[in-house]
Amino acid sequence: MEQGKTFIISGPSGVGKSTVLRELFRGRDDLYFSISATTRPPRKGEVDGVHYHFIDVPRFQKLIGEDALLEYAEYVGNFYGTPKKLVDQAMDEGKDVILDIEVQGALQVKAKRPETVRIFIAPPSWDELERRLKGRGTDSDAKIQKRLLRAKTELQTADVYDYFVINDTVGQAVRELNAIMLAEHCKPADRMKILKEGTLS
Ligand code: ADP
Ligand code: 5GP
Repeated sequence: MEQGKTFIISGPSGVGKSTVLRELFRGRDDLYFSISATTRPPRKGEVDGVHYHFIDVPRFQKLIGEDALLEYAEYVGNFYGTPKKLVDQAMDEGKDVILDIEVQGALQVKAKRPETVRIFIAPPSWDELERRLKGRGTDSDAKIQKRLLRAKTELQTADVYDYFVINDTVGQAVRELNAIMLAEHCKPADRMKILKEGTLS
């Protein structure tokens, strides 16, 4: 069985990562979405154990102490981190793993696991990003301004990513993500392994 790969999806808050990923995951059981732990309070409609594991700061620190996180970072006043065990388990089961994480966390994962593929999702324009953040209606004006400021510094680091997807329409962004993931599975090293093991059929 082919080992799964890890794909990092980063991009400014409000660019549409959750929306695009929801579409990407529709009807797919060969993909695993890594549910992060966070100290941020849930937004309206967010479910514990589905969107995030919502935990307090002492519990988050305990996870760090136990080396249970593949990476973690602070983002606009809250901690976010990726539980390591379930990511490894999914890859061993042959599933591709998607990490929706910000750029500091992406750097940490790339340093530990250089084979990880990093994809940056950008908005078609700054005005559109602001419209989406406001339109989502989940953050105060002050929080939106902080997230927009953070977005500008994040975009400056985007050129170290392996791929760049502009989320103009959700359909096109999903098609591009699928194309990237498929292409990554066609790399010679992976294909040669399949040929050697004779596991294609
Ligand atoms: P993120 O997960 O990146 O923070 P969301 O998925 O919550 O962003 O999307 C933010 C807002 O933008 C939501 O209201 C969503 O419906 C909207 N949105 C997402 N993608 C698009 C798109 N391609 N065109 C228009 N609106 C979009
Ligand atoms: P939000 O509060 O909008 O859900 O997420 C804020 C930011 O945190 C987003 O850029 C999202 O990608 C990032 N994020 C979510 N989970 C993790 C995580 O486990 N680790 C890191 N480093 N960032 C995360």
